[in-house]
Amino acid sequence: MNIVIMGPPGVGKGTQSHWIVEDRKIVHISTGDILRGAIRRGTELGKKVQVVMNAGDLVGDDLMMELIRDRLSQDDVVDGWLLDGFPRTAFQAAEFAKLLKELDQGIDKILVIRAPADEIVRRLAGRITCRVCNEVMNLTGLGNVTPTYCPFCGNSKDEERAKAALYQRADDTEETIRHRLEVFRKKTLPAAWTLEEHFPLAEIDGLGTVDEVAHRIADVLE
Ligand code: AMP
Repeated sequence: MNIVIMGPPGVGKGTQSHWIVEDRKIVHISTGDILRGAIRRGTELGKKVQVVMNAGDLVGDDLMMELIRDRLSQDDVVDGWLLDGFPRTAFQAAEFAKLLKELDQGIDKILVIRAPADEIVRRLAGRITCRVCNEVMNLTGLGNVTPTYCPFCGNSKDEERAKAALYQRADDTEETIRHRLEVFRKKTLPAAWTLEEHFPLAEIDGLGTVDEVAHRIADVLE
């Protein structure tokens, strides 16, 4: 099964992707994770995209097309994939439709998760991530207290490692979040409607608990 998951930053794409890929036994391809990995490792790609990403702007279409073509040519995608964070522009969507035709692949469902802007800002301003296990958590869900170790992998119980392990994304400040929302509305929503010309799309209400949203997704993936 091939799935594309779209939605504004912080709407829960990553969280929902985790259970979907396990349930469907498909690979999770997050273009944001790939790019952040490149920045962490200091590769040429990482150096090219760091400033653009930290400002909450989009990386160039040509570079993204090259990245996705490479990724979908790897062996582990044969049983299906879930794309999270791509396509982000109408151009990427149109090029992606052509690429899929060339690769003789399709999309079984495009999921577009929606939530109001104020809810997104509230969620993202409290978002922290564990460098060790990559789990994303929210300070509001944790009683607004920054934990001293990751509650998911428990891997950083000593304070020095905890400081290194738990971090707030450089693009999760309120000003940058509002800018990324604007980018989503202006550039990425049109990408969804472009892709919908070729493949089935379902809009999902992203408000409520993780489980509630997961049930709505499960219903449309039946
Ligand atoms: P994400 O983790 O999906 O929120 O992506 C974080 C950042 O990576 C975005 O704000 C962009 O700067 C960059 N990025 C990820 N995917 C794409 C894409 N398909 N096109 C352009 N930029 C992207």
